[in-house]
Amino acid sequence: MEGGARREGAIPCTILSIDHRDMYYRVCSICEKTLPSPNLLCNFCSKNNNNASSKRLFRILMSIATDTKVVTVICFDRVARVLFGCSADEFFNFAKLHPFSGVTVNEILEGEMFTVTFSKSVSGNAQHTRLASAVPLSSVFRPVIQVLRECYGSQHGS
Ligand SMILES: [Zn+2]
Repeated sequence: MEGGARREGAIPCTILSIDHRDMYYRVCSICEKTLPSPNLLCNFCSKNNNNASSKRLFRILMSIATDTKVVTVICFDRVARVLFGCSADEFFNFAKLHPFSGVTVNEILEGEMFTVTFSKSVSGNAQHTRLASAVPLSSVFRPVIQVLRECYGSQHGS
């Protein structure tokens, strides 16, 4: 027996599905402020730094089942990286080469069990509960990108 320390407020849940059509948002690569459009650069940083560019962060809607209910939650970059094992840009570039990655992500994560904590919306107008943390329950859990690389890698014999 190990890892028995149960975190305050952590509850077990199962991932039912994720919305793989819309998993990213754009931020300034320097200050990480949300950018309104992929083509725009951060007003502030682009004036002060020639290297200002934009990058993607994860923002994923997923429905999960706890032992009492099914809820739709929003999962931001820090937690999503635990599930994906890579940055949003890395995943995006992989998915560009492998167009079915999004669908496959659903298949990989569907039914995976995690202990999660939620965070309350600070502003009070957030539409969805946020996932504050997610820890895989399975000791053999592998991040999405590892599984994807394996299944697409072998297919192409590389
Ligand atoms: Zn900026």
